[in-house]
Amino acid sequence: MRQPFRGFEKCAFFYDVLAVTTEPSLDCGVKLKFYGARGSIPVCDPGFQQFGGNTTCFQITFVDTNRIAIIDAGTGLRNLGRDLRAIGHQQDQVVIAFTHFHWDHIQGFPFFRPAYDPEQRIRILTVGRGQTIGNLREIFEVPLQSQYFPVQLEQMGAQFEFLKVEDASRHFTAVNNVETTVTGQRHNHPGGAYGFRIERAGKVLVICTDVEHGDVVDPQVVELSRGADLLVHDAQYTAEELQTHRGWGHSSFDQAMQVAEMAGVKHLAMTHHDPEHDDDFLLRMEKLCQERFPNTQFAREGMEIIL
Ligand SMILES: [Zn+2]
Ligand SMILES: [Zn+2]
Repeated sequence: MRQPFRGFEKCAFFYDVLAVTTEPSLDCGVKLKFYGARGSIPVCDPGFQQFGGNTTCFQITFVDTNRIAIIDAGTGLRNLGRDLRAIGHQQDQVVIAFTHFHWDHIQGFPFFRPAYDPEQRIRILTVGRGQTIGNLREIFEVPLQSQYFPVQLEQMGAQFEFLKVEDASRHFTAVNNVETTVTGQRHNHPGGAYGFRIERAGKVLVICTDVEHGDVVDPQVVELSRGADLLVHDAQYTAEELQTHRGWGHSSFDQAMQVAEMAGVKHLAMTHHDPEHDDDFLLRMEKLCQERFPNTQFAREGMEIIL
């Protein structure tokens, strides 16, 4: 049964994520599952299957409530939706929060099965100050025009809600008195993108992808990542590749580790793998990175990390 919790009016956008549907357990942890760890464009070639070819999509599960939230709708979203159906996961409203709307972060949306269920409510959400996007609904409507896709947004079936939230530093308490804070922060990327910091029951998850640092790593990204149990950071390029990809909006392996070191992060997961980086290459780089920052993993599709 739902009960009111502090700050409900202020944070209705996350209410449904946190509402309890099952008996609460003692574990108030947060679980992250990678449904897409590839950047820029999906790849399906042999030699890319270990890290996976689907583009950015993260599933966050609040363990005690068994509620999920999704960040980004890259092609990995298709498998996420299929898995939800397969296990019979029931959640009246699903939130999909977006770092930004480049193709590799929205292309899975038309293939998200729950979006075709008239009973399903889906909240499309942006969080953070300084947003420059105009009409949020249009961002999804336009790529679904009949010239591009057979089913238009209004024909999909689910009940969509589009919400832009400026003030991201909102506190709220779930039914079992677990306070949760979600912070969205804009960082440098062509057109802008947002990093998220999610704090709950003493655990901190930071997701910061599609970020390009300057000559030094962005101190605001370091602050956002401060003390995180898990930092998921963009690592599309080697230091050499970064030199020839200035302005493309991404980071190097070195920069991801530098942020983790400066912020005192416990565990680092590198993501947004370049479509030219095959499994052999990524395995080699992962080993090299682990020599410098031992608690580093390169994100693999299907990988789960419990905080
Ligand atoms: Zn991207
Ligand atoms: Zn991007």
